[in-house]
Amino acid sequence: MAAHTAESEFAFELRTCRWAERTWPPDGDDAPIPIVARQLGTKRRRWDTIVLECDPDALEQRANFGPERLDGDLLHVVRNAPAEWAYYRDALPYPGYPWRYVREAIHRADDRGILETRKNGNRIEIRRKWAYPDWVDRIVAIENKPDLDASAARVLADQLEYDVGMALADEVWVATEATGDRIEPVLLEDLPVEAGVLALEPETLAATVEWFPRSLAVDDPGTRILERASGDGRDASAARFEYVDPEEKARTRLEIAERAYERGWRSFLDTMRPDCRHFEARAADGLQALPYCRAKGRCQTAAECAGSCPSFEPEPPAWRSREWPIEGGPGKTIRRVLEGRRRRRRPGQDANR
Ligand code: SF4
Repeated sequence: MAAHTAESEFAFELRTCRWAERTWPPDGDDAPIPIVARQLGTKRRRWDTIVLECDPDALEQRANFGPERLDGDLLHVVRNAPAEWAYYRDALPYPGYPWRYVREAIHRADDRGILETRKNGNRIEIRRKWAYPDWVDRIVAIENKPDLDASAARVLADQLEYDVGMALADEVWVATEATGDRIEPVLLEDLPVEAGVLALEPETLAATVEWFPRSLAVDDPGTRILERASGDGRDASAARFEYVDPEEKARTRLEIAERAYERGWRSFLDTMRPDCRHFEARAADGLQALPYCRAKGRCQTAAECAGSCPSFEPEPPAWRSREWPIEGGPGKTIRRVLEGRRRRRRPGQDANR
């Protein structure tokens, strides 16, 4: 297997997302509706791919709140908003931060049309429009490592240990490129046994589960290792820990899920230059459009494909006008196609908008 470069890792990551969207869950159980996103997490830990297993009816109700994410402040308001008119301070639990931020969130929710508000004297009263649904069943995190050398495996082992200790996701997986060997090399690495291992053929999107993960205790306090014992990295007997309470974890999980709902995994265009004349989308399996740079002759990474790219050339103005075959140049076309596909994955949102 050829060594992987940053650009092929990026393409592999997009293939994993596509595979997850089509195939999740890998054990072939009844398919929940997966929402797939990439490059999301917390300040300390960002996952390559995230799969949300969702309750279908609740997911459709979530669409009432619009395609944009609800941040922590908005969630506090819409989740606690009463069915009947009430003064907001009576209706909402004290959030642990000043009420003026709550008022600001109430105004934002009102502007977005997801909360009813009225003035009663100088008091703001609120009433919910819809109950915020319990739409996320499980969160699955996948690290994409098309090939895993010893030093990458050490870094990955630390990251996975962190994931297992924190148990923010219900499951963690490593996706690696299938080698066809009797024992996939990734299994020989010293990774936590709680992590699942998946061997994926990126061209065909055929995947084999090499090791099933264990479900993590998302409702228990999370453990963060602050300082390790010296010696064997697995000997944590004298390490210092910090605990994260289950309520904070539940809040963080929901905020991650909301960001995944908004972003999906096709949003890579937002940080690339589809307005460059060398930008192209090439179908990998007849269905999935992967970015392709004609100047480089390969799939480019999002980091390369920026305004600072030395080969960047703006697309000719004619491409943007109606003169180009259909409504603008290739950049606009691919953006429209990807946006439509993202919406089709969000029941209740209009895919043709
Ligand atoms: S030349 Fe640079 S900016 Fe243009 S598509 Fe290629 S990588 Fe992106």
